[in-house]
Amino acid sequence: MKKIGILPCSGACNVGALSNKAVVNTMKEKENTDFVCALGLPLGIEGIIKNGKSSDEYIALNGCKVRCATKALKSAEIPVNEEIVITERYDIEKTGDLRSEEKLDKIIDDIENLVDKLQKE
Ligand code: SF4
Repeated sequence: MKKIGILPCSGACNVGALSNKAVVNTMKEKENTDFVCALGLPLGIEGIIKNGKSSDEYIALNGCKVRCATKALKSAEIPVNEEIVITERYDIEKTGDLRSEEKLDKIIDDIENLVDKLQKE
């Protein structure tokens, strides 16, 4: 079974926090998934890059259109097989409410479906 690396942007806002919560929940349900650390990649932290490159396919989960998760993967020359931008896909406005769980179940469902799709390809 393919290993799927999922990288949340983990930004300090509602949609960044949602990205983190969604990945944590997805990992509970889906085998062979890996939480890729967003910050360590562009910082060039060797161990994090090594771990980050250990998956077969990658999902970038961005809070907003700045797309930090996608850019972090690209900075380490890791392919982006699927990309989500939470504000655009779920029509959620960016706020400072870190406790928000707005549409979290839907985001988790969509990531789990993407994991299934990538593992079948
Ligand atoms: S993608 Fe948007 S929400 Fe996420 S860390 Fe970057 S600026 Fe913040």
